[in-house]
Amino acid sequence: MRKLSVAAIAAVVILALTIVLPENGGQASDPPETNPPSFYPPQMPYAEDVESPVPAASAAGEGGVKPLIVNAWNPLPDDFTAGELVTLFDFKDRSFDLARSDIRLDKAVYEAADAMFAAAKQDGIDGIIITSGYRSREKQEELYNNQKDGTAARPGQSEHETGLAMDVTVMGSEGVFDTTPQFAWLYEHCWDYGFILRYPKGKEHITGIPYEPWHYRYVGLPHSQAIRDQKVTLEEYLEKS
Ligand SMILES: [Zn+2]
Repeated sequence: MRKLSVAAIAAVVILALTIVLPENGGQASDPPETNPPSFYPPQMPYAEDVESPVPAASAAGEGGVKPLIVNAWNPLPDDFTAGELVTLFDFKDRSFDLARSDIRLDKAVYEAADAMFAAAKQDGIDGIIITSGYRSREKQEELYNNQKDGTAARPGQSEHETGLAMDVTVMGSEGVFDTTPQFAWLYEHCWDYGFILRYPKGKEHITGIPYEPWHYRYVGLPHSQAIRDQKVTLEEYLEKS
């Protein structure tokens, strides 16, 4: 009887903890970069196997080249330079909105994103705002050095330094972007446009980054569709291939 009570109390406590813990706490409109929590292993086995980084020109993973991996275990070299960057504000007929006028992306990534968001509009999905794109090493250093909450990625460890990743949101979706129709559409279709949801829920121990429903990485076709079909992270995909 006594044992049963203890078990019952433990079950209630566990249930209460499950309910209280937020799934993605503190999501802001311009989401912060995040560091791998300290309990992650310092080195993943794939880090030795994957030839990384690849030259910037093939960073998007096209032409049979493996997509570039950037994480805590595979930082970019100090002399890394992004591919051809374009300022999104310059494209007046673009199919998406911008949080700022100075956001840049790799040209190929802009073209893929514009096609993707145009298709979303055709399906009645509107209002997607790009909040962040390319960041220079200096900008990432500035973010890292001036951070107050310890969530900015170390310089060299942010995918934003490649120009191949973007953060998106919709108005009024702070903290709940993954409950919006825009997220549902992206989660279903982004893979067909060369993008992946880079930091999925439940894969934090592999990516080293908490769930980020707003962060999309361009890896190019056919990699994005293969990653979807295999239900893996970029890390697992590269380890297998
Ligand atoms: Zn991001």
